This record gives sequence, C-alpha cells and structure tokens, in this order.
Amino acid sequence: MDLFDKCTSFTRARDAQATGIYPLFIPLSQSEGSEAYVGDHRIIMCGANNYLGLTTHPRVRQAAIDAIREFGTGCSGSRLQNGTLEIHRELERRLAEYVGKERALVFSTGFQVNLGVISALVSKGEYVVTDKEDHASIVDGCMLARGTMKRFRHNSMEDLERVLASLPLQVGKLVVVDGVFSVGGEIAPLPEIVSLCKKYSARFLVDDAHAIGVLGGGRGTSAHFGVTDDVDLIMGTFSKSFASQGGFIAGDESVIHYLAHHARAFMFSAALTPPNVAAVLAALDIMIEEPEIIVRLNEIGVRMRQSYRDLGFEIGDSQTPIIPIIIGDDLRTLLVWKRLYDEGVYTNVFLPPGVPPNQSLLRTSYMATHTDEQLDEVLEIMERVGKEAHLIP
Ligand code: PMP
Repeated sequence: MDLFDKCTSFTRARDAQATGIYPLFIPLSQSEGSEAYVGDHRIIMCGANNYLGLTTHPRVRQAAIDAIREFGTGCSGSRLQNGTLEIHRELERRLAEYVGKERALVFSTGFQVNLGVISALVSKGEYVVTDKEDHASIVDGCMLARGTMKRFRHNSMEDLERVLASLPLQVGKLVVVDGVFSVGGEIAPLPEIVSLCKKYSARFLVDDAHAIGVLGGGRGTSAHFGVTDDVDLIMGTFSKSFASQGGFIAGDESVIHYLAHHARAFMFSAALTPPNVAAVLAALDIMIEEPEIIVRLNEIGVRMRQSYRDLGFEIGDSQTPIIPIIIGDDLRTLLVWKRLYDEGVYTNVFLPPGVPPNQSLLRTSYMATHTDEQLDEVLEIMERVGKEAHLIP
C-alpha cells in the first residue's frame, strides 16, 4: 500500500463535482457582505459569520489600511520574540476589559486558541470534558492534550453530571463548550454548567466564537447569563463579528501568563498581522459605540426563526441568528442547496461527518446589515424551493 492510495481512492467530492452539485470552495468574484457575486450570478449571503456585517465597514477597512501604512503587512515572528507590537497589547487590554476578565492573549487564529489552550492546560492524568457537538478545534485541542478526553451528550446536563461524577475527585478537570453552537445555533446552559463545575471542582472554558458581538450586548454568553465571574476562561475569534482573522483567550492573569509561556500554537506561530489587529480594534469600537447593530442582528434572528417555523421548516433548537434548515438525506440536502443557490440564496451545506448521519442540513446565518428587502427575498425563495422539494406543506 502506498501512502497516497487514500488520496487517489477519495472520489466522493469528485463525484459531486461531476454531477454539478458540489457546494464547496465556490469563489466569490465580489462581496459587499450581505450580497455577493459568483461570476455575475448574484446571491444573498446566508452563509457568513460576518454577524455584524463589519468586514466592509468604512472604519474597519480604513483602520486595516492605516495599520499597513504604519507597520507593514506582517510581524515576521512570534509574539514572544520580535512579533509583539503595541497594538497587540492594546487589543489584549481592550478585549479583557470588554469580556470582563483580568487579562487576554491574542492568537493568530481562533482554531489555534483551542489547540494551544486546551493542550497546554490539560496535563497527563487530568481530564477535559466536552459537549459532543463542540467545534473541531476543541476536539483537536483535546487530542493534542496529554490528559484524557470525555464527552457528554449535546447540551445534556444530566449526561455532563454523569461524566463529571465518574471522574476522580482530586484531579484537574476542564469542561469546554461552545457558548453558541456553530451549526445548530443553540445556546449552552452556562448557569447549570457553572453549578456542575463548582460541585465537581472543574474549571470551565467557553468558546464564544459565535456569541461575541451577538449575545450579552456583544460581550458573549457569559454576559448574557450574568455568569462572567464564574466562567474561568472565555475564548473568542476575530473571524466572525470582529470582521478580521485571529482569536483570543481571556481569564485570570496567572492563567494567561502561563498560557503565554506554554501554549505552543501561540508560541511557535507568527503574530497576528497589523491590519488584522487594527481591524479588530475598529470593530470593537463600533460594537461599543453602536449597540443598535447588535439589537438589529438579534431582531433579524427572531424574525427569521419565527418565519421558518411558521412556514413549517425543521430548524431544531436554534436561539440565535444561526438557523439550520434540517433536511436529513444527503442527496436531498445537496439538491435543495443547489436550487437555493440557483435562485440566489447562498447557504452552507453540512453533511456527515460534520453532522450525525441522516441529519444533513443547510446552515443559514444572518447579519445586522441584511436589509428587510433581502430577508423578504430569502424567505420567498425558501418557501418556493421548500414547497417544491416537499420540505414544507
Ligand atoms: N470555535 C468555533 C466554535 C468556531 O466555529 C470556529 C470557526 N468556525 C473556531 C473556533 C475557529 O476559529 P477561526 O476560524 O478563527 O480559526
């Protein structure tokens, strides 16, 4: 057997390409956020994590351009060595204050935050306990850690308690959940998780990639529930509401100091680039100065969830502007995706192993900058295609 045999025998994606229903790597020729073009085919973007629509905001664009003028395009080294700029420090101070923690540390991607933090904290003989629907970066962080990973049923507090109760009392434990689940749009019940962590002496890390800029007036799920002081670590990415790239971890000073000297995905990777840092700072200013955009995003979420439910779509337990259209069968999901795409609605396809078998879905997500007219159009197309595909009556 040759090492590359697995590559040549991987035909699933090529088969889909041959039939013309391959929903991945579609290159956009233009994008203004809520509307984009593939060649000259116009689509309304219902697949982006650009929740506040800030990637094209004039202030955010300008901040990134100014940072390139001032510092150049990259940092050419690790944060530990030559790669720290004053704006990294400023961003860390601002983020810590924003989410209500002592200190924050900025990484070059959100994925690296979970890889670096979990693997640095969970040592041999210790445990990390995760929700079965936690993001891939959390799973990979657990696999890199020397400790043992245990999983509990999605959002089931009974199952979390069963797992925690089965672990030895006197050893270190970390519970990790997505604050908002990236595909289903459900919110994790942080107050209950906090109580269980206290009862079983576990530390608690919340991945707020999809909650910052969305819940708690923008400050995330901990603020939403008023449990910021009881959540040990808050993680966020810059690739969503912050309209940039990168991520951060925030918590007690001593823990962040330790991570700065032990999280390998932080230490051995080049620092976040100046335009990326500056874009996050500008986005943060806008989030604080214009809270109405966060209100608008959540109003859109309420309207779209209600409309989909009224039309008869199966949208699971979504409580946020991430709304899955659950279809089930893989091929049917791809066919509906294609019809929507042709009609001008861009959604993201999730097939197994991204979701459990027979639960294939189209993930839709909304942004504060979607206009009411665009949303009307999305719903009109969804209704037409949904009826045609017998997804709704
Ligand atoms: N955590 C969650 C819950 C995510 O959804 C993502 C990205 N989709 C990440 C972490 C990784 O973040 P990034 O894209 O910034 O690397």
